[in-house]
Amino acid sequence: MKGTLQLINNSEYAVCAQILRLFFGHCSREGDSLVFPLSAEQIAGTTDGVSITVSSDYMVDSEELTALRYGTTLVEDLPNAKARIEINLRAERLLKSSCQTNLSDFRRNLKRELYLVLSTWTGISFPWGSLTGVRPTQICAEIMELCGREEAVKILTDEWGLSQDKAELGTKVGKAEKGIISRYDPDKDYVVYCGLPFCPTRCRYCSFTTRDANRYADKLELYVEAMLEEAGQFFGRQSGKAAAVYFGGGTPTSLPADLFAYYTKGLLELIPHNADAELTMEAGRPDTLNDEILNLIKDAGFGRLCINPQTMHDSSLNAIGRKHTAADTLAAYELARKTGSFIINMDLIYGLPGEKPGDFLSSLERVLDLAPENITLHSLALKQSARLMDDMSGHDLQTYLREIHPDLLLEQELNEAYMRLQHNSYPPYYLYKQKRSRGALENTGFSKPGYESTYNVLMMSDRFTVIGLGSGATSKFLTASGLVRQHNSKDLLDYINRVPEFVNKKLELKSF
Ligand code: SF4
Repeated sequence: MKGTLQLINNSEYAVCAQILRLFFGHCSREGDSLVFPLSAEQIAGTTDGVSITVSSDYMVDSEELTALRYGTTLVEDLPNAKARIEINLRAERLLKSSCQTNLSDFRRNLKRELYLVLSTWTGISFPWGSLTGVRPTQICAEIMELCGREEAVKILTDEWGLSQDKAELGTKVGKAEKGIISRYDPDKDYVVYCGLPFCPTRCRYCSFTTRDANRYADKLELYVEAMLEEAGQFFGRQSGKAAAVYFGGGTPTSLPADLFAYYTKGLLELIPHNADAELTMEAGRPDTLNDEILNLIKDAGFGRLCINPQTMHDSSLNAIGRKHTAADTLAAYELARKTGSFIINMDLIYGLPGEKPGDFLSSLERVLDLAPENITLHSLALKQSARLMDDMSGHDLQTYLREIHPDLLLEQELNEAYMRLQHNSYPPYYLYKQKRSRGALENTGFSKPGYESTYNVLMMSDRFTVIGLGSGATSKFLTASGLVRQHNSKDLLDYINRVPEFVNKKLELKSF
């Protein structure tokens, strides 16, 4: 038996689908309804299925809501700027929710009301409550600005359904992000992302369009030339200097040394950047670092380096398809410290398949022993396109739901990790969420004070222009009608062949 959700006087299917997927794993559009699967428990005792109705008291136009979000329409210009959302769930028992909302907050409040009804009905409370978006800290910061931190925590727990821990974390990080953002001017500061979609092997959890650097050896040069062409054509026709440049991918350090030198120096010469711009090299795979590559990174002027162990357990590394060991991470870290005075970030993932309780914390302890300036903790995301999902293909929906629903043990382990980071003087400074993450948990960046990554915060904020170069890269432009995204092709050859077209799209959108 399936459940259905129908909308009356509005067509906010995408918003409702986000909440339905949170609780039920899947949902699809069938005619005017959203249809979602129900467990045996959820349908027990019902005779005529489960139906949810989401209605507003007059027709709410989706385009108007989008325009409001981007500030092209004033709420005051709209007749009936207040709307009433009524949501009711008809099942074994009737649950009702109703709220009066300003149109500019319509989507948020609709999502919140639907979340609260479903949370009551299913008995499931997610750590971040109704904040299912990528940047929950923005809402936390907005509420905090209106009423202070203490009251914001109360509102976030009582009205938005966040757990006490997440409301406190969200407000703390929201404040830290705001502090970093306030140092930059969205009208003139921008950041640049350079993506090189090649890696030595493919991690089983990877959802990027990254390719095996060895198998594509004959395309590497062609690709690097295309990126130089994209950078040259775009930056040759715009003014302003980048505040931060991030070389990611993929793994840029998987290039052969001579091509790596050509790539990094070539791009940095073409990308205008401030003398004190933050330059980051993501050397995600420790086994791609050696003396020669590290010296090239230093000589090119990079001050930041990411060396990502993900876990310090060799059996886990093997299981997730990373062909390096914890010893490789230690050796790469030591070599990097000897080579230059880099600010080093190290990523760890919690919720990895096969890891026992305590494994993640012991990885964190080993990373803390190294004392990198930044540590980033990621929740494992179960992306459709990741090979990891093949491992789950024999499993049913309930198995998948167990992975993405709240996981008390994982949350306890994460809280312990946060306490240890705090104890070692690493406050959290940026945070984002991914869909389909284990336990519906977050990714959080921690930093020794004064070493926070500007790029991470500005890029994630959606308040600054981001120029994305390379196959699969996304640029974000702040335009009069709001934030507009431009996507480069994910197909390698298609990208190489269409560079002038992607440059022209960027030039049309740029505002500086
Ligand atoms: S290192 Fe990153 S980009 Fe490369 S395969 Fe692993 S997850 Fe994907």
